[in-house]
Amino acid sequence: MAGTAAEVTEDPLAARLAATVGEAHVLTDPDLRAQYEIDWTRRFGGPSRLVVLPGTTDEVAAVLRACAEAGAAVVPQGGNTGLVGGGVPRDGEVVLSLRRLDEVGTVDELGAQIVVGAGATLAAVQQTARAAGLDVGVDLASRDSATVGGMVATNAGGTHVLRYGGMRGQVLGVEAVLADGSVVSRLGGLGKDNTGYDLPGLLAGSEGTLAVITRVCVRLVPLLPARAVALLGVPDTAAALRVFAALRPLPSLSAAELMYADGLALVRAHADLGPPLEDEWPAYLLVECAAGTDPTEELGAAVIACPDVGDGAVATDASGRERLWAYRERHTEAISAAGVPHKLDVTLPLSRLAGFVDEVRGRLVELDPGATCVLFGHVGDGNLHVNVLGPAPDDDRVDDAVLRLVAHYGGSISSEHGIGVAKLRWLALTRSPEDIAAMRAVKQAFDPDGLLNPGAVLPPPG
Ligand SMILES: Cc1cc2nc3c(=O)[nH]c(=O)nc-3n(C[C@H](O)[C@H](O)[C@H](O)COP(=O)(O)OP(=O)(O)OC[C@H]3O[C@@H](n4cnc5c(N)ncnc54)[C@H](O)[C@@H]3O)c2cc1C
Repeated sequence: MAGTAAEVTEDPLAARLAATVGEAHVLTDPDLRAQYEIDWTRRFGGPSRLVVLPGTTDEVAAVLRACAEAGAAVVPQGGNTGLVGGGVPRDGEVVLSLRRLDEVGTVDELGAQIVVGAGATLAAVQQTARAAGLDVGVDLASRDSATVGGMVATNAGGTHVLRYGGMRGQVLGVEAVLADGSVVSRLGGLGKDNTGYDLPGLLAGSEGTLAVITRVCVRLVPLLPARAVALLGVPDTAAALRVFAALRPLPSLSAAELMYADGLALVRAHADLGPPLEDEWPAYLLVECAAGTDPTEELGAAVIACPDVGDGAVATDASGRERLWAYRERHTEAISAAGVPHKLDVTLPLSRLAGFVDEVRGRLVELDPGATCVLFGHVGDGNLHVNVLGPAPDDDRVDDAVLRLVAHYGGSISSEHGIGVAKLRWLALTRSPEDIAAMRAVKQAFDPDGLLNPGAVLPPPG
């Protein structure tokens, strides 16, 4: 049951939305709203006014028109797997869930593209693309829940950025609804189109603050049938980076992920996995090569030539590859099972990444001797996920110490998760006042009344 008739009619906006999308798709009952009001990390969230689940672009437009007329703020939400608190309400906003817009179109094999609804999950799109011998260039561990609309809105990264780029690079077009309910559509799927400002590119990474994405034309890449995954034990971060640099010229290299002994131990205990290698190593590099023909020999030869590799395991069959990937992919859930972490997703210049890793651990222990710092990430992109367990979730000193250190090392305070509300306070660490003013002008042009995801991405003026 959605909200009762009495609850729906008590709020005139709920009643108007129910008339548009159907009563079953307007949730006013607190129990039904609950799952939409707290984020995946359990660190962010708050009460919503109601949750509305339109089923078509026209319904999204009608919902946004009704909210604009009522002066109601709206938080767009996809799969609610975001890690920076940008997709959940804070203070009585309307949650606009796109989950019912989950249509997966037909693959255009010649154009290597597909048009999908914003609420389609990555896994659903991958399944359809793979049946046609194609694939999506971006992959994430949250693939079963993360939606394509959310992935565009966050400009998601994931494990294959070093080969195909991030989500912005996979977007050939979008259809989106602006704050006033008007619809903009560029779904033609043209390979080249320099007709003025690139709205799809601008909406990528806008985190629901500029428009609500309703459909996406996704670029597809060839499905590479032959894959080899190697998990390599190395003595430290610098050695892992040297091995990555040695493997980088391999044309088949499609992933390079870094993790450490403490994170691996957490994953093993959480997922009940055996050791990947005979001995324990301080750091591990997981690499994947994918090609039309078996890349194992090429990968093996390159690894053997690396003096920094202490030990390694290689898998070529699907179950073996999945087993090795699990050590890396299950980090996020294993950390979350251990507590509510501070999650800081950052980029460092590769030349300074090892220095940062050494220093950040020490800084955090100085700050709170009970802090546990679990690091892992997409090292090929200089992207580290700094997870801190122990200090209270609202102890901002942790975030402050890590992000200031990142800025000091010439990095970015958000690599792929976005700013949301989690990083708002620190935007000015790596964006100049002029940059922030230009972003504000864009926001003002798209959403003059500030109704779309207020309080996310841009700090309040002043
Ligand atoms: C286990 C796990 C692993 C992850 N791994 C990665 C990773 O490797 N790389 C990575 O980049 N991220 C990763 N993430 C984070 C997350 O999955 C991504 O940010 C993803 O893109 C969010 O998609 P979503 O549909 O869940 O969006 P949500 O969480 O629902 O929303 C995220 C943001 O997008 C906005 N939004 C959502 N849908 C729309 C829409 N249709 N129109 C406009 N705005 C919208 C929201 O307002 C919010 O600001 C991971 C998360 C988990 C839980």
